[in-house]
Amino acid sequence: MAATSRYDRQLRVAGWGSQGEGRLEALRVLLVGIGGVGTRIAELLVRSGAGSLALLDGDAVSPTDLHRQSLYYPDDARSGAAKVEAALRELRRIEGRTRLAGSARPLTARNAAEELGREIDLVIDATDTLAARALINREAFLRGIPWIHTAAIASEYRCLAIVPAGSPCFACYVPKALPADAVPTCEVAGILPAAAAAAAALAMAEVHRYLTGAAAAEPGRRVLYRGDVLRASFVRSLLEPDPECPVCGPRALLDQREGQVVDGLQRLCGGDRWEAWLGISADLARRALAHHAAAGAPLERGMGFWRGRTPSESILLFDDNRVLYVGGEIAGADAGGRTHGDARREAVRGRLAAIFGGEALSSARVQ
Ligand SMILES: [Zn+2]
Repeated sequence: MAATSRYDRQLRVAGWGSQGEGRLEALRVLLVGIGGVGTRIAELLVRSGAGSLALLDGDAVSPTDLHRQSLYYPDDARSGAAKVEAALRELRRIEGRTRLAGSARPLTARNAAEELGREIDLVIDATDTLAARALINREAFLRGIPWIHTAAIASEYRCLAIVPAGSPCFACYVPKALPADAVPTCEVAGILPAAAAAAAALAMAEVHRYLTGAAAAEPGRRVLYRGDVLRASFVRSLLEPDPECPVCGPRALLDQREGQVVDGLQRLCGGDRWEAWLGISADLARRALAHHAAAGAPLERGMGFWRGRTPSESILLFDDNRVLYVGGEIAGADAGGRTHGDARREAVRGRLAAIFGGEALSSARVQ
């Protein structure tokens, strides 16, 4: 009876009802990215009772996340909690029917086939990089999995649902050869919570439309929503497939995964957080980290990672040999000044090299 009353107010909605409810209860979702947009989508999915939700995000909570990322609290930022850990803790408090899982790693060329190869019905992109979206697009296309693209930056938001076969894919839509740094980051352009919330609401609406079959009402075409919360603008346009598309077009090269260089040291959005991959064994990396962590402070075991601390930094070493360095530099201190940012990059690289050895930081290639 409790379950009936809990979902009663959505069951009553015309056009949704028990049929939509049954499909939602069976729906298995992979959510990539749990930042400003992703935390809100996760909460909407769990509160409305999606069947299962798997979270994928390799980042840790930063103080600059707190104004918009609805599942995190100052304690999480102070302790450098992995977002997946903190998000799962809050989502479990809802005590809904959704089965929850999570992995504290980012989507990369290394793991995209594995992550999208799981038993899922729908992928939601709440990431903030073109590279991650390109990976989702290709893997989803290969497997015939529908996915929903979202984005929010400054006062703008965007949402596009993509159903493989017969309708445009993400690569049809994104201008060709757009360099990764052409996309502004929230660290530079900022982001309003309303923009993130609008993107999340549209994505959840697309989940409803997908489950009721309303999304199939425009065969061969896809609806792109774009809006701006400061200008109060909202545009709905219909996209067509691009016959020259490198992913879904007839001359597409489907498997270009091999040989891609795994990301080197890169700064994550939201302050002094840096990510790198290590080319040494996981055991050796863990011992090196334990040796350099503060005296008397043993490594802490988290969800898929070891955490080592010193008074000024927190270093998360993941089981897949990714390392996340969280330092104490003030976020945005180098805004507009590349010199300081470059100097900081070299300082972090030097620190990681001192801990793990310089050769460990050399980029690895996907097998
Ligand atoms: Zn395409």
